[in-house]
Amino acid sequence: MNYLRRRLSDSTFISNLPNGYMSDLQRPDQAQPPPPATATTTTPAKSPTTGPSPPATSPAPEKKPQPAQSTGAGFFSSITNVVKQTAASAGLVEQTQVTTPKKFKILLVIDEPQQEWAKLFRGKKILGDYDIKVEQAEFNEINVVAQANGTCNVNMQVLRNGTKVMRSFKPDFVLIRQHAFSMTQNEDFRNLIIGLQYGGVPSINSLESIYNLCDKPWAFAQLINTHRKLGSEKFPLIEQTFYPNYKEMVSMPSFPVVVKIGHAHSGIGKVKVDNHSKFQDIASVVALTQTYTTTEPLIDSKYDIRIQKIGTDYKAYMRTSISGNWKTNTGSAMLEQVAMTERYKVWVDTCSEIFGGLHICAVKAIHGKDGKDYITEVVGSAMPLVGEHQAEDRQLIADMVLAEMNQLAEKEANAPQRPTTIQPSQGTGQKGEIVGEPTKNGAGRPPQASSRQ
Ligand code: ATP
Repeated sequence: MNYLRRRLSDSTFISNLPNGYMSDLQRPDQAQPPPPATATTTTPAKSPTTGPSPPATSPAPEKKPQPAQSTGAGFFSSITNVVKQTAASAGLVEQTQVTTPKKFKILLVIDEPQQEWAKLFRGKKILGDYDIKVEQAEFNEINVVAQANGTCNVNMQVLRNGTKVMRSFKPDFVLIRQHAFSMTQNEDFRNLIIGLQYGGVPSINSLESIYNLCDKPWAFAQLINTHRKLGSEKFPLIEQTFYPNYKEMVSMPSFPVVVKIGHAHSGIGKVKVDNHSKFQDIASVVALTQTYTTTEPLIDSKYDIRIQKIGTDYKAYMRTSISGNWKTNTGSAMLEQVAMTERYKVWVDTCSEIFGGLHICAVKAIHGKDGKDYITEVVGSAMPLVGEHQAEDRQLIADMVLAEMNQLAEKEANAPQRPTTIQPSQGTGQKGEIVGEPTKNGAGRPPQASSRQ
């Protein structure tokens, strides 16, 4: 006991403890059942709700531990838990907790906090039985640890109303509403997409498609295939040239052109170039970026077109620049909803088939003063919602997530039961499975691909 007290007042030992352990050590032992193994939180366990998670107090690493304040039993059980968890995370012990099946499903939403997704799932149930617990964070607030047995732990650290909230949980589903990659500010979260895919977390859009949409020219290559199949009449794709790096930017395009550098959003990295000498100047800037570039003819544009598809809902918009910027998404612009035509439907339907299917997508095009359309890009579930129907669109997305989660839960319920007990392995040093919790997807792709039949 005295040894442990001494160790706990040793600041090196304390600082080496993983996040959240200090709060565990400082907390008096509670006469509560342990939280479900599938959703460990660094905050006191809370009952599942569909509302926003209440702010949890962050651990206070500055405070010295005060073991004398807890009961002896609490002190020892905390220590035991720390040792058990540390050993488990190091793969030294068998985790053979027997848990009662949880009565909620965890939906992770990657989006900015202003968009409150939890309220759209309030009171909703999966299979009429499971509550939905919404965890919302931005990409830069989460981390992922995935294992080959199909488990995936998300560690989340968010600031909510000035309070640091830390949580660790296994998501049952993920909705991704932020760009996973942008060359602006080095926003590269593809490692998290890989982690979620590795852990077999089903997602909207599919993680595969999100990963594939992380390079605009890679996605444009799909549009080239569609253009080949349908022809220019049905699918009027803009002419584009790809340069893998600045070295190849010597051949003369016909001017004026738009140079699009790397993978960025909101008009960033798009430059209008009128002549050869400016093109060479831009090539010298590209040389510093070490990325690819595309060029397109500058369309003398009347307005931008955006055809969006959310599940089976279609909407078409036109955006006209007011401030006169050639980039209609920069400066002020007027957005109007326009009629959804059969032609637009073909565009967005064919685009929604790429990369195994996109539940949420939009096709962008430019309508030129020559009366022609030029398709420029397809965007996925990270697309910003626009226009007056944003609330409706958000609801459509929530309904689609709910339908997918229901479908998955149904599949899970109909899947053959796995054994509910396991034999401890004979000193293999391997981590055991958590008993009574079948792996969600087996070793294959996330099931969302098969759910799109
Ligand atoms: P967002 O993040 O809004 O999708 P982005 O970074 O992908 O934008 P683009 O959509 O490619 O950028 O271009 C920004 C704007 O520039 C377009 O909305 C359009 O108004 C204009 N634009 C793009 N390409 C051309 C072109 N080839 N000719 C004329 N205008 C263009």
